[in-house]
Amino acid sequence: MINALAAHGGPMTLQAPRPHYQWPIIDASLERAILDQAHRSLSDRDATGIIGEYEQAFAAFLGLEPGQVVSMASGTAAIHAMSRILGLSPGDAILAPAYTFLATASPFAFDGIEVVFCDADPMTGNVTAQSLADRMQPNVKAVIVTHMWGIPCSMDEIAAFCAAHDLALLEDCSHAHFARWDNQPVGTWGDLAAFSTNQKAITTGEGGMLVARDPRLRELAVLFAHYNKRARAEIDAGSEHFPFAFTGMGLKERMTTLGAAIGVHQLARAAHIESHRRHNLDAFTKALDGNPVISPIVVPPEQGAHGLYVLGLLFHADQASVTRDEFVRLCVAEGALEVDAPGSTRDISGEPLFARRDASAPWRATAVRAVDLPGVAAFQEAFIKIPAWGYPGDEELLDGYLAALAKVSAHVAR
Ligand SMILES: *Cc1c(COP(=O)(O)O)cnc(C)c1O
Repeated sequence: MINALAAHGGPMTLQAPRPHYQWPIIDASLERAILDQAHRSLSDRDATGIIGEYEQAFAAFLGLEPGQVVSMASGTAAIHAMSRILGLSPGDAILAPAYTFLATASPFAFDGIEVVFCDADPMTGNVTAQSLADRMQPNVKAVIVTHMWGIPCSMDEIAAFCAAHDLALLEDCSHAHFARWDNQPVGTWGDLAAFSTNQKAITTGEGGMLVARDPRLRELAVLFAHYNKRARAEIDAGSEHFPFAFTGMGLKERMTTLGAAIGVHQLARAAHIESHRRHNLDAFTKALDGNPVISPIVVPPEQGAHGLYVLGLLFHADQASVTRDEFVRLCVAEGALEVDAPGSTRDISGEPLFARRDASAPWRATAVRAVDLPGVAAFQEAFIKIPAWGYPGDEELLDGYLAALAKVSAHVAR
């Protein structure tokens, strides 16, 4: 006989003190790295110090050549850089996921670009070559995809679609630092890729990285975020872009040296973070095997590898006597406080920002046009996440969460 649910007066499954998830782990070596950098420099105008070290480490992490990535102040800034590097202008459109974090698309809207929202595969939350093709229109110049919750998009098919229509391919890899598709890291499939390093699997506190493998695009990335000292040193004097080295494009989007020091520290431990989180993902996948109410979202090993941002699962409402939201509440009552149906990453297609009336006033909108997105609706109604953890002592939390999920599932299974 199973115990009564905690929400109905039964014993809680776990009583671990808060917080249940902290990232990154602030240990003595990270404290040291931050302090050392504070003594070395709090602001770098070029990449001869910690900024360059961090960029080299990040490039190596993705298997790229040094110099194929450019750091920025945030993932949002890196996505804004994509818009300006491609030179998209009002009248142009971009195909983007409707289900994503808002910053995948908001910088394009800021620039007055029409964002055409695409449906998702209800099993993964990702756009597909088909869902992009369904929304194709003549003024589309680029495609941006997000590898949602760490699950890689079908990049071979999406790259073929972009090539067939002569579209720039952009990747938002903010959820997918460790993801691969066809044995190739995400972020290396498109013309440009952005990584947020805000509270993501590799973190710098706040920060972003732009992958620009083409030297011409890379020069523009430097002009977007970094101006004179760095741009003069890194842009070829014979380049058409060199006359802009002094001013850049008009903005500055540098990350901080302390963030870069955290990034160098984290990247030195990337293999450890990855193996620990993959171990947790395997335990999670195994524990949910045969559960009729919830199932993990898996990446078939012959297709790719999970990006390890969070552990995501789908709730099967037809197999349960409660709604998804009630299921989450019952798990939280068991003490699994971080079981979550995300609220701020959701269908963004109805936001007024994307229904602009005035190219220079992002806050002036017309009536929002509704789009039919059945895959997005189905995924969004079914998705639940728990942390991937990845640090010493997390076994107890993972086991407790799996026990809470199992207990609540047993109670609500039809
Ligand atoms: C976090 C995130 C961003 C934005 O990055 P910031 O560094 O917070 O600006 C963009 N896209 C996705 C999918 C994200 O998760």
